[in-house]
Amino acid sequence: MALTGIQIFKLLPKTNCKECGVPTCLAFAMNLASGKAELDNCPYVSDEAREKLAEASAPPIRPVKLGKGVREATAGGETVMYRHEKTFYNPTTLAATIPASMAEADLAARLTAWNAFQYERVGLNLRPELIAVKDDGAGPDAFAKTAKTIAETSEFNLILMSEDPEVMKAGVEATAFKRPLIYGATEATVEAFGEIAKAAELPVAVKADGVEALIPLTDKLTAMGIKDIVIDSGSRDLKGSFADQVAIRRAALKGGNRSLGFPTITFPCEMAGNADMEALIAGMFVAKYGGIVVLSEFNTETLFPLLLERLNIFTDPQRPMTVTEGIYEIGNPDENSPVMVTTNFALTYFIVSGEAEGSRVPCWLLIKEAEGLSVLTAWAAGKFSGDDVGIFVKKSGISDKIKHNELIIPGYAAAIAGDVEEELPDWNITVGPREAAHLPAFLKAKVGAA
Ligand code: SF4
Repeated sequence: MALTGIQIFKLLPKTNCKECGVPTCLAFAMNLASGKAELDNCPYVSDEAREKLAEASAPPIRPVKLGKGVREATAGGETVMYRHEKTFYNPTTLAATIPASMAEADLAARLTAWNAFQYERVGLNLRPELIAVKDDGAGPDAFAKTAKTIAETSEFNLILMSEDPEVMKAGVEATAFKRPLIYGATEATVEAFGEIAKAAELPVAVKADGVEALIPLTDKLTAMGIKDIVIDSGSRDLKGSFADQVAIRRAALKGGNRSLGFPTITFPCEMAGNADMEALIAGMFVAKYGGIVVLSEFNTETLFPLLLERLNIFTDPQRPMTVTEGIYEIGNPDENSPVMVTTNFALTYFIVSGEAEGSRVPCWLLIKEAEGLSVLTAWAAGKFSGDDVGIFVKKSGISDKIKHNELIIPGYAAAIAGDVEEELPDWNITVGPREAAHLPAFLKAKVGAA
């Protein structure tokens, strides 16, 4: 169970030396209890206290690292039931299955196609992380060969799926360098799979028949010294698996049940009769509370919405996404190109820049810091006032890049036009459209009229 600030304080040196960055040990203890400080910030904690505190301050759901390289991901590590309580930290990782017996040419074609499923959104690269190689009876060599090909020729990381310890051993030997997840140890194989995982220092998933039945399996692995565990309650019906996800999260967070304090793996690929239903079930697990979601395959029409859902759910609701203040070039602008200004809310930037790009009219986009608020909100909150915008334009250096002196302000901020004019007496202030969707026509008309 997590310790309270006072319980933590009792274990600290109480010298108030301030080296941790706060004035007192009590303040540090309070920060530690609320997850705002790291224990390592205090150099004077005794080893005994460190051991007690490390265990108590460990996240109730263990973060488990999956894979290596650019698609490395972490599952688990969550601390709240509901996103609005704080935030969710580690996005659900997405996997698709490949049978071990797949022909080489088909495998290569699939990897090429799946690798291309990457989408740029609000400055981020959205893509899936994992491929689950499924033992379909082709034997250890075929299993190892397919897994090795994926590990060596693609960025994808791996889930090795087999019930046979010999097949699993072959797969692990071929791909251990990529830190695959071993799936899935059952009551019958937990010891054998545990030994394989321990020897190769890999994460291992356990599969049981119900939530309660997971406990002896995770306890067994923990006793073997294995910490990186993923759990599968075994349920494959919609209602039951949803209930299991909630029960596991609740038991770990509210009940302090360390035996269930691990990320989950879910299998929409085994729960649906068609791709649409599979995507809907996957969407449910992204929202609640799948650590890993395994699909039967990746295709752009279901993957893209899932990646967007994941992006929305796993962004911090208390911190708007922002872009850096500055001058952005759209389509090689020159000294005669239009100049627009807007706020640094990431969505505003990407919608405005997307429409401007789509117009094929090269232009300059000035992004002003406004605490990540959209234009109307920033204006209402006094973060996008005429004076501020005028001062920002002067300091931005845009005058060195252009020969004209026209500034286009957002339609929703039309009210600041007068103040901007006062601050920039040599400029012509033009009010642009309210909706970004109307920008292409506006820009084309402007260039055509020039
Ligand atoms: Fe107390 Fe440690 Fe912080 Fe010093 S560094 S004030 S001893 S918690």
